[in-house]
Amino acid sequence: MTSVQSGSARMASGLADRVLSEAAVCGEEAAHFASELIRVPSVNPPGDAYRECAELLGVRLEAGGFETEYIRGPGSDPKRPKINVLGLRRGRRSRPALHLNGHIDVVPPGDGWTVDPFGGEIRDGWLYGRGSADMKAGIAAAVFAAEAVRRSGVNLRGTLEISGTVDEESGGHAGVAHLAQIGRVTCRTTDYVIIPEPFSPTRICIGHRGVLWFRIVARGRIAHGSMPFLGVSAIDAAAEVALGLREALGDLVTELPVVPEGARQPTLNVNSIAGGQVIPGLGATGEAGAGQGLPSPCVADECELVVDRRYLLEEGADAVRAEVRKVLAGVEARRPGVRFEVDEVLSVEPTHTPDDCTLVESLSRSIEAATAESADLVASPGTYDHKHFHRIGGIGQCVAYGPGELEQAHQPDERCALADITRTTQALALTIVDLLS
Ligand SMILES: [Zn+2]
Repeated sequence: MTSVQSGSARMASGLADRVLSEAAVCGEEAAHFASELIRVPSVNPPGDAYRECAELLGVRLEAGGFETEYIRGPGSDPKRPKINVLGLRRGRRSRPALHLNGHIDVVPPGDGWTVDPFGGEIRDGWLYGRGSADMKAGIAAAVFAAEAVRRSGVNLRGTLEISGTVDEESGGHAGVAHLAQIGRVTCRTTDYVIIPEPFSPTRICIGHRGVLWFRIVARGRIAHGSMPFLGVSAIDAAAEVALGLREALGDLVTELPVVPEGARQPTLNVNSIAGGQVIPGLGATGEAGAGQGLPSPCVADECELVVDRRYLLEEGADAVRAEVRKVLAGVEARRPGVRFEVDEVLSVEPTHTPDDCTLVESLSRSIEAATAESADLVASPGTYDHKHFHRIGGIGQCVAYGPGELEQAHQPDERCALADITRTTQALALTIVDLLS
């Protein structure tokens, strides 16, 4: 017999068994629905077929007893409207309210595929295609978890919402950020959020590190390349900055269970570096073979770096800003005539949902009941829509939990195990019942 320990009471074992067996059947249906979603190439960039994908999801939600609403995000061009879909299933009361959210956009397929990236092929226990893991299987698991609860005849006390949102892969501003900004999903409407991103059926993602992207322009003084001591090289200064920023990272290790483990420390990536004269034929617009000569020998008077600094909850954004200023001041002091300008391109604060909150505890119990394994709490090295629910919506209890492996995201031959989809559908169904009934 299965039993699920609930926050206040034990979920009747008969009920848990009924939900699990309905969800096992629904898990198979979820895989087929995910395959249908994959066949709609909602590729971002540029943001194709959002309406088609949102409507496919909306029709399925209506069939499952949800009222649906389509919300157009800002920045829509008439050819590519940014259409989000939101489904609402009312319970006896408005609260508690659980919101399941997935992004409907996928990244472009890229090269190296041996199957049709938009074929949604199901073969040998796997679902293949762009978005199979990230994250159309997750959306389907959420939809069919709700369906399993309905077929189990459970009369929900609170509200259940499922949304499919756009543009997560490019920042989520027309998607989740917009729904939070217009007050549609905030702490005034919603208690718990689960985002079925591919963290595997036994892992709950409770947060992510922070991000600061800087654009740094180094300026020096031009001179003849045969007498570089008469100039001030912006390239040399930029190189010293790149190395200095890396040395400044330190060896702090976060308390957050970030996976992979290499990301438990601060990390730095120089996304790009460009300076001096462009060699004809190697420039962004150059054509192969166009550059036969050499650039004239000059000391570079300008060089630009774009730096992606991922930081820990324990550091904070202001400490990272101060660290960057210190490195730049050091280089300016050692290299008279060098000046730097800094622009912040992107800033995302770290998030952390408490391990012992109602949502994490409920989902952990449900995972144990559905998979017979204990749940692992993890955190993400990068960011996803969690930040908008937390920072704009003010929702404290938000996690990511869904089928598939993170390593499959954005890869050729992306795939998701059918068994993962079923186990996740079961765990989500139990969580819906546990939190809302
Ligand atoms: Zn994703």
